[in-house]
Amino acid sequence: MTLVPSRSLLDDAVLHERAVPSFNVITLEHVEAIVVGAERAGSGVLLQLSENAIKYHGGRAEPLLAASRELADAASVPIGIHLDHIQDRKLAERLIALAPRFGVGSLMFDAANLDYAANVAATTEVTEAGHAAGLWIEAELGEIGGKDGAHAPGVRTDPTEAADFVAATGVDGLAVAVGSSHAMTERAASLDLTLIAELAARLPVPLVLHGSSGVPDETIALAVAAGIRKVNIGTVLNVVWTGSIRATLAGNSSLVDPRRYFRGARDEMTATVAALCAVVSPSPLCKY
Ligand SMILES: [Zn+2]
Repeated sequence: MTLVPSRSLLDDAVLHERAVPSFNVITLEHVEAIVVGAERAGSGVLLQLSENAIKYHGGRAEPLLAASRELADAASVPIGIHLDHIQDRKLAERLIALAPRFGVGSLMFDAANLDYAANVAATTEVTEAGHAAGLWIEAELGEIGGKDGAHAPGVRTDPTEAADFVAATGVDGLAVAVGSSHAMTERAASLDLTLIAELAARLPVPLVLHGSSGVPDETIALAVAAGIRKVNIGTVLNVVWTGSIRATLAGNSSLVDPRRYFRGARDEMTATVAALCAVVSPSPLCKY
């Protein structure tokens, strides 16, 4: 097993009615923890790099994409590379051009902050460019003019509008608003499982759950059973990572070697990844 196209993981998830765990990477340690956690769980996963993470690295996507490709290539489970929440059109074009070099298989273009017509127009153009490069393209349909897009609490994706959006844009996957919201550090969100089932029945493409860090494990499992096929997970890894570092450094003002406090943080992140893989892609169907 090795680096694989995102599309093959998603096709397999659709076929077997499970979801692809998709974890956000910020540092090299995230990539290492996600790959080892996926191997421990025996699960295929996506490593995903967001526009915000690219900005954090001075606008350069290449170093983390190279690390992701190297570690995915050496992994014992199938791993794909995805670009998450790309809002900047110019960046999307640049990343699509870079994709073959780093084995990137998919990209989420996020124009959910635009009104419906502008979202359709922009998403259609990026989808065409992505398809020409062989990429699987995810998009998001948010509240019209909504500042927080589809992930503001209370916002819901309308099934008819979503079906029209998918038909008009040609996207391969859709991030839906079903009750979760981004960057939650407590796992208290409830999801509209009836709406997930209705969207799954109406839409011809896989549904993506964003903001999963705020959703309890049992609710994530129910969402997958209802039809979610890609589960994005970011914040909870950073809750675990930062919590471990904070605990290690507390009362140890002489500790300066980052390996001494990163190691435990990476181990805890690895365990969290393995546990979430089992929730999102449960045994015995976790082997791709
Ligand atoms: Zn998201």
